[in-house]
Amino acid sequence: MDSTGTAKDTGLRTSGEVPHSGIYRVSHSQHHLPSEVTLLKDQKFPRCSRCSEPVLYEFVRSAPNIPSYPGGFTVTLYELPELLPDDELAG
Ligand SMILES: [Zn+2]
Repeated sequence: MDSTGTAKDTGLRTSGEVPHSGIYRVSHSQHHLPSEVTLLKDQKFPRCSRCSEPVLYEFVRSAPNIPSYPGGFTVTLYELPELLPDDELAG
């Protein structure tokens, strides 16, 4: 069985165009990024905020009901923030 747990290279990565609106799984071993993001068709896949290594994406499911914002304003992600460990908040 070929299940090494390594990220498949689906060809979806930083700076590529998002082919379908929906949920995408994030693969970026260098930093701890959000595990899934919602992206809209025709946007560019966001980059990592911490490095220039490409972030790989895997299509999970379509999201036909992505909420729109008042005034037709939609949020576009250009980069993904690194998630900080919980113990940063302890105290
Ligand atoms: Zn990174």
